[in-house]
Amino acid sequence: VTPRKPPVSEEMSVQSKRGSVKASTSNNTGTPGGQRNSSIARERPNDKTVGAKTKSEILKNLPPGIDEGAAKQILNDIVVQGDEVHWDDIAGLEVAKNSLRETVVYPFLRPDLFMGLREPARGMLLFGPPGTGKTMLARAVATESKSTFFSISASSLTSKYLGESEKLVRALFGLAKALAPSIIFVDEIDSLLSQRSGSGEHESTRRIKTEFLIQWSELQQAAAGRETTGKGNKRSDAQRVLVLAATNLPWAIDEAARRRFVRRQYIPLPEPQTRETQLRTLLRQQNHSLSDTDIEKLVQETDGFSGSDITSLAKDAAMGPLRSLGEALLYMAKEEIRPIDVSDFELSLKSIRPSVDEKGIREYEEWAEKFGERG
Ligand code: ADP
Repeated sequence: VTPRKPPVSEEMSVQSKRGSVKASTSNNTGTPGGQRNSSIARERPNDKTVGAKTKSEILKNLPPGIDEGAAKQILNDIVVQGDEVHWDDIAGLEVAKNSLRETVVYPFLRPDLFMGLREPARGMLLFGPPGTGKTMLARAVATESKSTFFSISASSLTSKYLGESEKLVRALFGLAKALAPSIIFVDEIDSLLSQRSGSGEHESTRRIKTEFLIQWSELQQAAAGRETTGKGNKRSDAQRVLVLAATNLPWAIDEAARRRFVRRQYIPLPEPQTRETQLRTLLRQQNHSLSDTDIEKLVQETDGFSGSDITSLAKDAAMGPLRSLGEALLYMAKEEIRPIDVSDFELSLKSIRPSVDEKGIREYEEWAEKFGERG
């Protein structure tokens, strides 16, 4: 949920491209069945695998009431595969990571231990300034819990998919159950569950919101075993589906929707120690001459930066040694190019500034104090 992200449609196509590249060449379950399925996928180039099943197998066995077109769209655009994110890729955020382990990862891996009093939450909200790692955390949760990862931006439901959105929402929850364990990650959830309902809200937006809340309630009821119809495994499938949502505008979510997120995890700006870890990680593979003292200084100078601001800063600084070369860079041997040094960072710091100001941060802190868990 960073303001620097490309528009939704572009972002979705990047995700689906990534998904199809990975999906056509490998299977991320590591099961022997995966081998067999990927060879099937190779025989029929359009039939990619999702988890252990091919798309056509999934489409052939769709749960009742699920629109095939919508299901196809979800398998192509919304299921994310490849480019896995692991806990270690994310600097800091230890409290959030622990909370996600306890809420999602362990219950998904050991459902038998998480029943009754230990019944896990069906929804978790990650909130905080843009670019602090909320999307990365969601992706890491999917990797670490070996789940199918459905990623959709709520604003795309009310724009790109408008008209088919209700079908899409039904198919989303239906497929998530069919391919459980699943994480449904909804970015920019505020644009779907905002307080605008009632007055002024567009009729179609209201319908999508209602459908989303109905599907989510059904999931919660099925997981709690209060649903009596259907096959015997319905409960266990529903138990292994979690709605993970992210927002930069937590105060825009209406009260009833907010209460449905039993867990609300604050994802704050990085602490000095986290900024240092991230800077060191970004520089690890690079030819640079920064000393420990230089890094300490940069850590101080990046107070108020988000993780994504720090990435932008390091990327810009890394261009420094090339910028001064001009056309010569086309002919120069790699070894002759000077290392990145602290002056590159100092120069970049003049143009790359924090994307959230102090007043903005105070608003997050206050909301976290009232409604969230800190970490
Ligand atoms: P959000 O969803 O909170 O807006 P993202 O997870 O999309 O933020 O992060 C955007 C980018 O910023 C990431 O791709 C990564 O490069 C960088 N980033 C943000 N937070 C971290 C972090 N804690 N550790 C490492 N990189 C981070």
